[in-house]
Amino acid sequence: MSKRIVIIGAGLAGTTAARELNARGRAVTVIDPQAGETCERPPLSKHLFDGSRHHLPYHFESTDHITFVRDRAEEITLAEAAAESRYTAETQRHPHRLANDHAAAGTIHLASGESIDFTHCILATGMEANRPEVPAYPDALPVYDLGDAEWILERVNNATGALNVGVLGSGYLGMEVAASAVAAGHHATVYLRGGEPLRKQLSAPVRQALFDKHKAAGVEFVTHTASPDDIPADVHDLFITSVGARPRLIPIDGHRPAQAWGVDESLATSHTGVFAAGDCAIVTAGPYALDRPWACEPVAESHGKFLAELLGEALETASNGGSTAPETSSDVDPDDGPKAWSDVPWHWSFQGPEKVFTAGLTSPDADDTIIRHDPSGAKFQVFHFDGPDPESELAGVETFNWPPMQAAARRVLGGNKIPTRAQIADPDFDFKAHSRL
Ligand SMILES: Cc1cc2nc3c(=O)[nH]c(=O)nc-3n(C[C@H](O)[C@H](O)[C@H](O)COP(=O)(O)OP(=O)(O)OC[C@H]3O[C@@H](n4cnc5c(N)ncnc54)[C@H](O)[C@@H]3O)c2cc1C
Repeated sequence: MSKRIVIIGAGLAGTTAARELNARGRAVTVIDPQAGETCERPPLSKHLFDGSRHHLPYHFESTDHITFVRDRAEEITLAEAAAESRYTAETQRHPHRLANDHAAAGTIHLASGESIDFTHCILATGMEANRPEVPAYPDALPVYDLGDAEWILERVNNATGALNVGVLGSGYLGMEVAASAVAAGHHATVYLRGGEPLRKQLSAPVRQALFDKHKAAGVEFVTHTASPDDIPADVHDLFITSVGARPRLIPIDGHRPAQAWGVDESLATSHTGVFAAGDCAIVTAGPYALDRPWACEPVAESHGKFLAELLGEALETASNGGSTAPETSSDVDPDDGPKAWSDVPWHWSFQGPEKVFTAGLTSPDADDTIIRHDPSGAKFQVFHFDGPDPESELAGVETFNWPPMQAAARRVLGGNKIPTRAQIADPDFDFKAHSRL
C-alpha cells in the first residue's frame, strides 16, 4: 500500500502543511467541507466597520499533488485497534499472533459514508466559537466564521446612521470588535464578567493601558455582568458575542480528549501516525509547551510548516532507503530534519488604532516583570523572565503600540543571545541593538 498523508481541516495550519508538502513533491489529501474556499479569520473581528477587506481567501487550490475531499471527517479508527480485535478473534482459532498486513495507520470515516486510509494524518480542525444566548438579543452572533461575519456586515452596511453595538466578552476578539466599531464612528458597550478587559490574555500594565485607551476613545464598559440575562433590552442595534471557543475534536477509536489533542514536541499525538496542529492541539512538551492551545495565527502556520518538514523528510528518508515510512515522529532518524517544534510563538491583536503583541512565554498573572518605555512614554514593552533571579533569562515580551520592537523581541527570543533580567533592568542596555547581534 502506498504512503498516504491526509490532512483534516483546510484552515491556516492545514493549508500551510499541504502547500509545503506539495512544494516538496509529496501527495496529500485535504478533507474540509470548504476545502479551496477557506479564508483568514483575523480580519473578521477587525474589519466589520471600516469598509476594508474582511474576506481574505487563502487561494489554496488542488494540484497534481493536492487532492481536495469536500466532506466532514466524523471519526478515525486506528489500524492497531482493528488488528487487535482481529487478533483476539483469530487467537481463539490460532495460537499465534497474525502478521500485521496493514500499511495504513488508520482510516478516516466521512459524513458522506466514504472512508480514507492514511499512513500519516494531521488533525487541523481548529476551534468553534461558544454561542451563548443573550435573551434580550436573540440575533446575537459571534464573529468567528465568515458566514456569521457577513450576516453582521450586512446589518452594518444597511445602517443609515451610527449603530449602537453591544459586545459580550472582553477577550481579544471582543475588544477588537468594540474598538473598531468606535473608531468607525459607532457606539460600543462591552459587557464583561470581571472588572477589567483582557484579564486572561495580558499582564496588568498592558491591559490597563488598553482599558484606558479604549475608554478615552469612547468604548463603554459594563463590568461585573454576572450573566447574559442581565443585559438590558432595546439598547443595541447589533449584538456580538465573544466568550471563547473550543477545539473541534474528531473521536479516535471512539475517544475524544476533554480539552484538545495533547501533542509532544514533534506535534505527534499518542496515536500512531496521528499528528495535530494549530488551534486543536495543546503542545505538552518542548520549549513552548503550554496548558492550552496557543490559538494564534503565527503558531498555526508554524505548526503546518513544521509538520510538512517532518513528514516530508520522513518519507524522503524512507523512500531513499526503500524501507517503510515511519509512522510516528519517534521513528525519524535523529539527524534528519527538525525534531522539536521550537519557533518563537507570537500573537498580534489590532484593537482600533491600538496594536498589542506578545512573543514567547508571557503570563497575565506575572507581577515581577520589567517595563521599558520609548522616550515619549507612550509605547512600552513588558519583559517576562523564567525566574526571579538577576541571572534568570528572558522568556517572553509584550509590546504595546511599538511594532518595530515586537520584531526585535521575536529576533531576540529566537536567537542564542537571550538577555538576563539584570541586563534588561540596566537602563543603558540597548534591546534593539542586542536583537541584531
Ligand atoms: C475572528 C478571529 C480573529 C482572530 N484574530 C487573530 C489575530 O489577530 N492574531 C492571531 O494571532 N490570531 C488570531 N485569530 C486566531 C487564528 O485565526 C487561529 O489561531 C488560526 O486560524 C488557527 O488555524 P487552524 O488551522 O488551527 O484552524 P482554523 O483556521 O479554524 O481551520 C480549521 C478548519 O478545519 C475545518 N474542520 C473542522 N472540523 C472538521 C471536520 N470534522 N472535518 C473536516 N474539516 C473540519 C474547518 O472547516 C476549518 O476550515 C483569530 C481568530 C478568529 C476567529
